[in-house]
Amino acid sequence: MKNISDLFGSMVFSDAVMQARLPKDAYKALKKTMSQGTHLELDVANVVANAMKNWAVEKGATHFTHWFQPMTGITAEKHDAFISPAKDGNIIMEFSGKELVRGEPDASSFPSGGLRATFEARGYTVWDTTSYAFIKDGTLCIPTAFCSYSGEALDKKTPLLRSMEAIDKQAQRILKLFGNQTVKRVITTVGPEQEYFLIDKEMYLKRPDLVYTGRTLFGSRPPKGQEMEDHYFGTLKPRVSAFMRELEEELWRLGVYAKTKHNEVAPGQHELAPIFTTTNIATDHNQLTMELMKSIANKHGLACLLHEKPFAGVNGNGKHNNWSISTDTGVNLLEPGETPCENAQFLLFLVAVIKAADVYQDLIRLSAASAGNDHRLGANEAPPAIISMFLGDELTGILEALENGKAYHNKEKHEMEIGVTVLPHFPKDMTDRNRTSPFAFTGNKFEFRMLGSTFSIAGPNVVLNTAVAEILCQFADELEKSDNFTGDLAALVRKTFSEHKRIVFNGNNYSDEWVTEAENRGLSNLKTTVDALPEFISKKSAALFTKHHVFSEAEIHSRYEILMESYCKTLHIEALTMVDMVKREIIPSLITYQSELLKLPEQKKSCGGLDSTLEEYLLGRIAKLSACLLKKLKILDSVILESKEKNEILSLAVFYRDKVFPAMSELRLIVDELETVVAKKYWALPSYAEMLYSVI
Ligand code: ADP
Ligand code: MG
Repeated sequence: MKNISDLFGSMVFSDAVMQARLPKDAYKALKKTMSQGTHLELDVANVVANAMKNWAVEKGATHFTHWFQPMTGITAEKHDAFISPAKDGNIIMEFSGKELVRGEPDASSFPSGGLRATFEARGYTVWDTTSYAFIKDGTLCIPTAFCSYSGEALDKKTPLLRSMEAIDKQAQRILKLFGNQTVKRVITTVGPEQEYFLIDKEMYLKRPDLVYTGRTLFGSRPPKGQEMEDHYFGTLKPRVSAFMRELEEELWRLGVYAKTKHNEVAPGQHELAPIFTTTNIATDHNQLTMELMKSIANKHGLACLLHEKPFAGVNGNGKHNNWSISTDTGVNLLEPGETPCENAQFLLFLVAVIKAADVYQDLIRLSAASAGNDHRLGANEAPPAIISMFLGDELTGILEALENGKAYHNKEKHEMEIGVTVLPHFPKDMTDRNRTSPFAFTGNKFEFRMLGSTFSIAGPNVVLNTAVAEILCQFADELEKSDNFTGDLAALVRKTFSEHKRIVFNGNNYSDEWVTEAENRGLSNLKTTVDALPEFISKKSAALFTKHHVFSEAEIHSRYEILMESYCKTLHIEALTMVDMVKREIIPSLITYQSELLKLPEQKKSCGGLDSTLEEYLLGRIAKLSACLLKKLKILDSVILESKEKNEILSLAVFYRDKVFPAMSELRLIVDELETVVAKKYWALPSYAEMLYSVI
């Protein structure tokens, strides 16, 4: 392996590369576009494109692509070669500014949720200059946003960039009130922790459910699951270690700060966490990470399972979205400061997040909703579907004391007063962690722990950024009018905490008592995707997103449609896969095994009448379960058919949740029971134990 510092970012057209390869004027113009979003003139774009192409060709690239994130949640690319014919019959490598800045992929087959009528199916991609271009598999990838001709966002990135602008604008208003005149930009930062499973590829290919749906639709529990907790932080198997090494090297080449790796709680489960960065770059990087995890696993004879719940009864995969707000000079606004003024500013930002989490709890919840994540939320391994916030005892104590006008003494025994005294730094150590909280303050950032592992982190961060932007806007509106800043600020912090503290919960979120308590507090509990998604098209949601120019109403509706549709399609595919597997794998296994068993009593009889109680018992049990199987199969078949009668998207989704899913669960129960009765060699599907312990 090359030196890490030579490797890191070697495939990225980074700031250093730009500086080295662009004429001074072009570099300056580009930097201005990057930092201030100004228009990039075509002649500059031409110079940049040419430098980019030369750099890419030297690195062995032959193609370029506009890399974008349609609403499918994964990335899309369409490759074009750099080559152009030259007069002498040869070719030249060319790449123009126009090709760099704007592309026109044939976009008709990407979901648009009705935004783009089919007669004008075109959309176009525009370079997101804030995210660096990179080379992947011999292709220069240009990160882009994807819009329709009438300007509606058809992707996940555009709203994310808009939400970052919204919070930038409002946070700057607040910072000005605290006398900060130098800050040019406020950004949000994210470090997403990504969980995944690795299993042997041969096993994977024998499981149609994994191949088609990403999760096992059948499978009885292995005798040894995660109860011994011996996998967590255990030593890495050589194959896993080789995979991780290659993954890390590839990520480093692409400038992704992949940092930690360890085994997770479940057997076969692992995690990768990058060092945090600007939210839109973190989003790009997380997409690249997921993509590379799959392709590199494949090279190592492994399959990477990113689904939220690949195995029932075994911990699922989550994604923790560590989120904070920072200035362009790197000051973390959610870090208690060193001075009384910074302390007051910290408290204001903190109560803004508290209020945002309370007022917009439904939107935050729905940003983590999907068919896959419904298997996790509320299932004792991931946070429940109720949004609450963990602050820790000390910070809660301080806020309560402030609220009640009581004294709170810091380490130096000084009495706390907003804007007068310095806050203590809050411990980040494990003892003060609450791993059951969906939204936990961890010393200088919030950890939003509800996300499913397959998610693009764009959606949840759009909601966080915009919700906090709105509250900061309300605060700025109020404080800008004040002629007693310190006094009004203290009053605002107190009032906000007092009105929204119901969202703060430091106890065990997994307990049943919390569900009751949360209900008493008036917190919402949107249990499933189907309960949560309609909140997206509520008046409150439209008011929030349109005010901050993050989504138009049409864009909200399109996303609602797409998310609902994706929920229904997921369940539909799962149901069909189940039916197919039962008919073509399970039933044939049963028949072969039974016919073997049936031969035995006859043979035994001819051997002088040997006892056949065991065979008869087994045959009886299989016959009984088989009859049940047939019944459940017919039910599932018929509800699938019935689903075709539903036209309206919400009622269809309700039907899938209340009729199709239970029918699937019942069918599964019988199959899993049969798996424990039928001899292994007759069972066509690899078992849970075989898959989970397949990588040695
Ligand atoms: P843990 O104990 O959960 O592993 P870490 O401090 O290692 O805590 O952080 C976990 C993730 O949080 C990492 O990806 C890290 O880069 C990210 N993180 C740390 N600080 C910030 C921040 N200010 N903004 C966003 N993410 C952050
Ligand atoms: Mg974590």
